[in-house]
Amino acid sequence: MTANEVFEESRKYIMNTYKRLPLFIVKGRGNRVYDGEGKEYLDFVSGLAVNNIGHCNPRVTVAFQKQAQRLVHTSNLFYTEPQVKLAKLLVENSFADKVFFCNSGAEANEAAIKLIRKYSSEKETGRYGIITALNSFHGRTMATLTATGQDKFHKGFEPLVPGFFYVPFNDIAAVEKAINDKTAAVMIEPIQGEGGVNIPDRDYLKRLREICDLNGILLALDEVQTGIGRTGKLFAYQHTGIEPDIMTLAKGLGGGLPIGAMLAKDHVASAFTPGTHASTFGGTPLVCSAAVEVMKILTEDEIILDTCRRMGSYLVDELNNLKLKYPDIIKDIRGKGLLIGMELNIAGEDVVRECLKKGVIINCTMERVLRFLPPLDVSQPDIDKVIETLTDVFNGIRI
Ligand SMILES: *Cc1c(COP(=O)(O)O)cnc(C)c1O
Repeated sequence: MTANEVFEESRKYIMNTYKRLPLFIVKGRGNRVYDGEGKEYLDFVSGLAVNNIGHCNPRVTVAFQKQAQRLVHTSNLFYTEPQVKLAKLLVENSFADKVFFCNSGAEANEAAIKLIRKYSSEKETGRYGIITALNSFHGRTMATLTATGQDKFHKGFEPLVPGFFYVPFNDIAAVEKAINDKTAAVMIEPIQGEGGVNIPDRDYLKRLREICDLNGILLALDEVQTGIGRTGKLFAYQHTGIEPDIMTLAKGLGGGLPIGAMLAKDHVASAFTPGTHASTFGGTPLVCSAAVEVMKILTEDEIILDTCRRMGSYLVDELNNLKLKYPDIIKDIRGKGLLIGMELNIAGEDVVRECLKKGVIINCTMERVLRFLPPLDVSQPDIDKVIETLTDVFNGIRI
């Protein structure tokens, strides 16, 4: 099909829920993707923090190709080896004791919300409330949409799910004030991704942990975007010296295949018993074989995480240099590892489109925040290319 045919037939046959850029991608390798005419693009979005170890990573591809020839699906009425191997890798490399598998970030958070409620109900505390942050993003199912502290996602979908309460992000006093005898948990992103790459103060999570302990409530971290190496550690909470009770993962976990996971400490996880939660596709051998390889690549040595940290600081430095050159256009640079945002004084959409024309894929969130999510093994020359492209684009902007 030609690009135009694809654009037209998509409009005709696919529900209109996405604002897509005019690019028809047919192939991806490492941090490059290619359109139907073979034009190459440098991918600094990584399928939205999914392709953290590159498109078609050879080790991941081989792993699931082999698995595809043995067994793709069985349902969770039975046991499979890839699922238990993945659970073991996740447990051994995190605070958690147990894992529940599903298929997306929203489902992982949905599972976390259900576990919080079930745990509280088992303990007969009468608690059900979940405190989340304004500008958070937790997914698009009814419960995770409600957990998401942004009106624009709620509009038109009311009535929402009861039991969610919002506080400003990075505001400890607000959490203290919001907690009452009905509060069961605080659910928070260690760094807000969709909400504009918002990084809290150094001790924010530590203080949250203290407050949760003091009040006997659970701390759930949504690491769907920050997990799987994105911030320079396997999980973002590992920067902070604290451990949550519950953590959710998805995006980068499957190396491109759809998988979600909800992890918890034993005393919380034990509230889930047979029949209380389930997923037909959750943790199929195929996706788990890919995720096992992703986890091995990220944990067998520190090479990729170290590259992520070094290239992350390099990119932030270079973006700060741009800010000195274009103080009227650029307002703020913030990032951790390779989850990096550049807040503009102008709308970011045209900048994204201009970069795309020049063969560079970046993203914009919250209208004015350019988001950079390159693969974790990105090279310095590729960062230089993005900086050159942004320089060209900013030179063409008059404000
Ligand atoms: C993307 C994202 C989700 C939702 O994940 P889906 O796989 O799209 O359902 C949830 N939480 C955070 C922090 C995310 O970035």
